[in-house]
Amino acid sequence: MLDNHGIRQNCEMTQNTKEAEHASSEPVVAIVVAAGSGVRLGDSTVGGSGPKALRRLSDVPLLRHSIDRLVAGGVGSIIVVARPEFQEQMRATLAGVEVPITVTDGGATRTDSVRSGLRVLQGSPAVVLVHDAARPLVPPEVVSRVIAAVRSGSTTVIPVISLIDSVRAVEGDASRVVDRSGLRAVQTPQGFDGATLIDAYDRLSGTEVFTDDASVCEAAGAHVRLVEGSVLSMKITRPHDFLFAEALLQAGLA
Ligand code: C5P
Repeated sequence: MLDNHGIRQNCEMTQNTKEAEHASSEPVVAIVVAAGSGVRLGDSTVGGSGPKALRRLSDVPLLRHSIDRLVAGGVGSIIVVARPEFQEQMRATLAGVEVPITVTDGGATRTDSVRSGLRVLQGSPAVVLVHDAARPLVPPEVVSRVIAAVRSGSTTVIPVISLIDSVRAVEGDASRVVDRSGLRAVQTPQGFDGATLIDAYDRLSGTEVFTDDASVCEAAGAHVRLVEGSVLSMKITRPHDFLFAEALLQAGLA
């Protein structure tokens, strides 16, 4: 599937050479959503206390890991979406990051938080990424790959990985096996042409439930392009995820 997309990329590059040249001179903007409460951590104090984005791996908050990797991958400007009561701490955590950072208020759902981040955008940047602060170990090369795919003319780009477990679909008391070879798990950062992302969020009625931003754009008619993600981009969700991530860092594998 990814090879087919590679072929399409070559065609798109021919058609969009001028636009891509123009786009490559603009800084890439990343919206980093960090306004979740981490309810699935329960009462665990793994990595510290407080919201998940401020908990630590190797003594560095998840938010800072995420932002350092976005910058290493080519991001030139960042909007952090956070709950008001944690913004001061988050700003302190980001001291020394060498790209401009704006912090804005999050909403009740992830979709509301992304919409809040979009309100801060200046104009319609050629490349906008949306990233979960809860994916702190994203490799910079995945970030670069997503940016390159948007710059080559794709309006909506997502990093994906294959599934390793067998999968079943559940219907009431019954279940049936699903061919995992045709399935992919979806990660962030997801990349967009700014106008596409802004327009798609403008069209939301407010009642739809989306778990990622590419689905919002797809509902507005965009074609979603897949690029290779990484198992290292796992979303830190439950207490044991911190232990896995810490082990990867300690072993120099992430
Ligand atoms: O809850 P979920 O695992 O889907 O959260 C993914 C990301 O979205 C996390 O980084 C979390 O901080 C962020 N989020 C947010 N605002 C919310 C809910 C989640 O910024 N209301």
